[in-house]
Amino acid sequence: MREIILLKLGEMVLKGLNRSTFEHVLMKNIKRRMARIGKFEVRIAQSTVYIVPQQDDIDMDEAVEAVKKIFGVITFSRACECEKTMDSILETAAEYLAPQLEEIHTFKVESKRSDKTFPLKSPEISAQLGGYLLKKFPHLRVDVHHPDLEITVEVRDFAAYVRGGVIPGAGGIPVGTGGRAAVLISGGIDSPVAAWSIAKRGVELTAIHFASPPYTSERAEQKVVSLLERVAEYAGRMTMFTVPFTHIQEEIRDKCPEDLFTLIMRRFMMRIAQIIARREECAALVTGESLGQVASQTIQAIACTDAAASMPVFRPLIGMDKAEIVALSRKIDTFDISIQPYEDCCTVFTPKHPRTRPDLRVLEEAESLLDVDALVEECLENLKLTKIGWGARQI
Ligand code: ATP
Ligand code: MG
Repeated sequence: MREIILLKLGEMVLKGLNRSTFEHVLMKNIKRRMARIGKFEVRIAQSTVYIVPQQDDIDMDEAVEAVKKIFGVITFSRACECEKTMDSILETAAEYLAPQLEEIHTFKVESKRSDKTFPLKSPEISAQLGGYLLKKFPHLRVDVHHPDLEITVEVRDFAAYVRGGVIPGAGGIPVGTGGRAAVLISGGIDSPVAAWSIAKRGVELTAIHFASPPYTSERAEQKVVSLLERVAEYAGRMTMFTVPFTHIQEEIRDKCPEDLFTLIMRRFMMRIAQIIARREECAALVTGESLGQVASQTIQAIACTDAAASMPVFRPLIGMDKAEIVALSRKIDTFDISIQPYEDCCTVFTPKHPRTRPDLRVLEEAESLLDVDALVEECLENLKLTKIGWGARQI
């Protein structure tokens, strides 16, 4: 008995997008992801993607977990391949689905026959299998309206497939169909969720992290790498740039009014991130800000931050409550890492009374006390690159 994974690409998913690009990128992403687990054949036929193991010792549970994290997959199922004979279909279904059938009370069988030379028509296949399962599992009943389990039999060109329930996929659009963006990533709860949300819309990511040693530690940076590794399970591999931010922060602390500290710092982040983004062919920046969450996330503060950047800044969490963001971070498994208590550069030198309604002219005046270009240049000369996605090794 060979178990495979079947992905259905519904027409809905493909609407408005160039279908062949969508399929091509999705197939590439699936192949790349599956290759990390073992040898698989991945092929597409009649809007169905077949993921077929080519080794006996493949852990299909692991493969299923990986498929759950591929954007562009709305639903999928595990299926068992069998010979195209009715006997084989009956036996395979009873054996393969037994663990699920033991647990439920009602079921229904749906059949599809794309091979029209198969001697039985679809309703006859369903009726035979239904009758067979009722005999084998006497506790079961058929319920065509609200079954606990919908069993599907498909008779295709080269084989028949029996599958149980449908598993929800990650949704979204295949990463690589939507261009590139640079995410400003801290060690907090929000920015990894923001990164994930943008990757979900098909965007490939580059990550930018600002570190302020010795105020922030090596472990704080390592925490960001761990977060990005979790995000990369969905978003694919990416490069992380670590920006040495200490000198800028000290300069702001020494020369600018305390209540403007955070905003001036955030404007520097934007300037630097934008230059890195351009170099990396990213067309937008991404942050994890949410309206009103802290002083630097009021409308006026965000307007002042944006004024330092000329490319679009995406804030996918802007309208979300903290509880909603936390729920997502649990879902993508970043929460436990995010709550590890390491300092972030945003938490060093924080003003006691930050300005919540800043004035751009006042900020610009304060910044005129600094040599902005030289400070930015100094950071860019000392970037550190870390590759994320295949064991985060440093280069
Ligand atoms: P997070 O939970 O993502 O840290 P936050 O709610 O703590 O967000 P801030 O600290 O004000 O909010 O940061 C707002 C956004 O600025 C972050 O979501 C992130 O995109 C960016 N950011 C903050 N600190 C850093 C950093 N050290 N490196 C890169 N980006 C940062
Ligand atoms: Mg933070």
